[in-house]
Amino acid sequence: MTTTHRLPSLFVSHGAPSFALDPGIAGPRLAALGRALPRPAAVLVVSPHWMTAAPVVGTVGQPETIHDFGGFAPALYQLSYPAPGHPALAEQARRALVAAGWPASVDARRGLDHGAWVPLMHLFPGADIPVFQVSLPARLDADRAWAFGQALAPLAGQGVLIVGSGSLTHNLYEFRGGHGDDEAYVQAFADWVRGAVEQADGDRLRCALRDAPQAQRAHPTAEHFWPLLVAAGASDTGQGPAAGWTLEGGIAHGVLSMDSYVFGPAG
Ligand code: ZN
Repeated sequence: MTTTHRLPSLFVSHGAPSFALDPGIAGPRLAALGRALPRPAAVLVVSPHWMTAAPVVGTVGQPETIHDFGGFAPALYQLSYPAPGHPALAEQARRALVAAGWPASVDARRGLDHGAWVPLMHLFPGADIPVFQVSLPARLDADRAWAFGQALAPLAGQGVLIVGSGSLTHNLYEFRGGHGDDEAYVQAFADWVRGAVEQADGDRLRCALRDAPQAQRAHPTAEHFWPLLVAAGASDTGQGPAAGWTLEGGIAHGVLSMDSYVFGPAG
């Protein structure tokens, strides 16, 4: 049965595209979360693999699976995630953004990028829950990323699961295709952020890229971190963020923390 209760929001670390076929410990934990959540009316995904100057909402009825990566195993390019879109709820998302002062438009053709479909293959493997994307505005800062999530928050009260998909750490200059030793800074950064998330400390969370240990190394650029603030902001209806809890995902490829966070109760 479709819920109309307020849903939590979610930050997922989508890792490398190979996460689709190599679930590690993060995949089964996302799958367990997907089974525990009330069934959403739709999933709204904000991914840094779709960035635009002003926000754009995807209103396609049947989104295609976009293989927006190069140099990975051929099997990854055969995968598809055939969930339908949800044009009506996407239009509501556009209106919520406009009402909050974001000049949002629609795109009736674009499909799902790997920041959306790779984690969704674990979270909702049946691909039977409608999915639509909202692009990540370019030139955000922490406060604006938070405000962007807050603008989308009304959708969570209509049974929409708001997902910010990024990567808790994301230094691709250090990316190793294999599985070498984990870099110590990855855990240090992840632990610091986890503390702020679980204490519902929005001020601290918004300062993470300035104050967390090794933040510059964890995020040489910020686009994979902003979805975390979008997800936390989506749980903030004026009283601060919901207390988050952590799905520990370990560290992939030595440098990618795969931790995810749920902002609000799961059931
Ligand atoms: Zn990515």
